[in-house]
Amino acid sequence: PLILGLESSCDDSAAALLRGTQILSSVVRGQNALHAQFGGVVPEIAARAHAETLDVCVEAALAEAGVTLEAVDAIAVTAGPGLIGGVLSGVMLAKGLATGLGVPLVGVNHLAGHALTPRLTEDLPFPYLMLLVSGGHCQFLIVRGPQDFARLGGTIDDAPGEAFDKTARLLGLSQPGGPSVEDAARDGDPDRFRFPRPLLDRPGCDLSFSGLKTALLRQRDALISEQGGLKRQDRADLCAGFQAAVRDVLVEKTARAIDLYLADAPAAPALAIAGGVAANGVLRGALTGLCTARGLRFCAPPLKLCTDNAAMIAYAGGALLEAGLHHDMTLSARPRWPLDAGAAPLIGSGK
Ligand code: ATP
Ligand code: FE
Repeated sequence: PLILGLESSCDDSAAALLRGTQILSSVVRGQNALHAQFGGVVPEIAARAHAETLDVCVEAALAEAGVTLEAVDAIAVTAGPGLIGGVLSGVMLAKGLATGLGVPLVGVNHLAGHALTPRLTEDLPFPYLMLLVSGGHCQFLIVRGPQDFARLGGTIDDAPGEAFDKTARLLGLSQPGGPSVEDAARDGDPDRFRFPRPLLDRPGCDLSFSGLKTALLRQRDALISEQGGLKRQDRADLCAGFQAAVRDVLVEKTARAIDLYLADAPAAPALAIAGGVAANGVLRGALTGLCTARGLRFCAPPLKLCTDNAAMIAYAGGALLEAGLHHDMTLSARPRWPLDAGAAPLIGSGK
């Protein structure tokens, strides 16, 4: 079936057309320019922009795929978690389209979209271990099926992408912070400044990143009061130290998550990564090494599918439809929706 996916839970409006695992088109319109002057995503502005842009994305996705709206067999839409105004814009448009076309509607958990993404491009059997690291999320999941997720732990405060973005802001580097911090860190000495490795002394898979930001602020201010400003090399060393701390924390907690995951005795053990921070080369390198050492396959989807997009929503929705499940017009937008709470009430056989 031809599935139209819609995504509007944060600051990207997106539409995609999928047939099976074939991505016919995937259109993403970001809102960075709209929020730049406020130093963060403004929910009201985001909601309004989604309402204005989502239908444009749909038009563009149809044109790029070379299909008509009437050819669409089902609508999949992000129903949460996320900024409620944006999620509502998507859900309302999806309901309108599904009603107008007389096709099934399915609401998808945004995190399930990220978690299932590696299966869109690779033959990856369940259960696999997923590290979801983005601007808004950081968690370990055992993915047992399209609706079956076990959460092993996650951040108790900031997400790593958010920490990268704040680091860039504190050092006067451009947004999004991930790429600019990674870039600056290339000529940096990771050992010049001491950064904490939060929560490593505690058992379990929970993580914390807010202390890193505080440490960075303190080191930066010390340098400024000593020297009257930051030199290029100072920035590089701060970025390298910060990035190494994020890497160390993520790698150690991933090692613990692997222990829990392997206790299930998966036939073909694999670690998959998703979310925008999966773009980080230093982190990827360290996780590749860890997987080799522990005998796990490492799966990293193409970057375009790692950040927010609608192809992953169409794919996750397709998996529910394939199980005979869908929603009706009572589908509601959920600002909070933990993955292991299951799907929003679905209709159908669930075969
Ligand atoms: P979410 O997906 O959690 O709803 P989001 O839209 O903020 O929120 P993504 O689009 O998945 O998240 O990813 C964006 C984040 O990824 C930003 O915080 C950005 O700084 C970070 N990021 C991008 N590239 C890199 C990189 N090379 N290194 C580290 N972080 C990166
Ligand atoms: Fe996301």
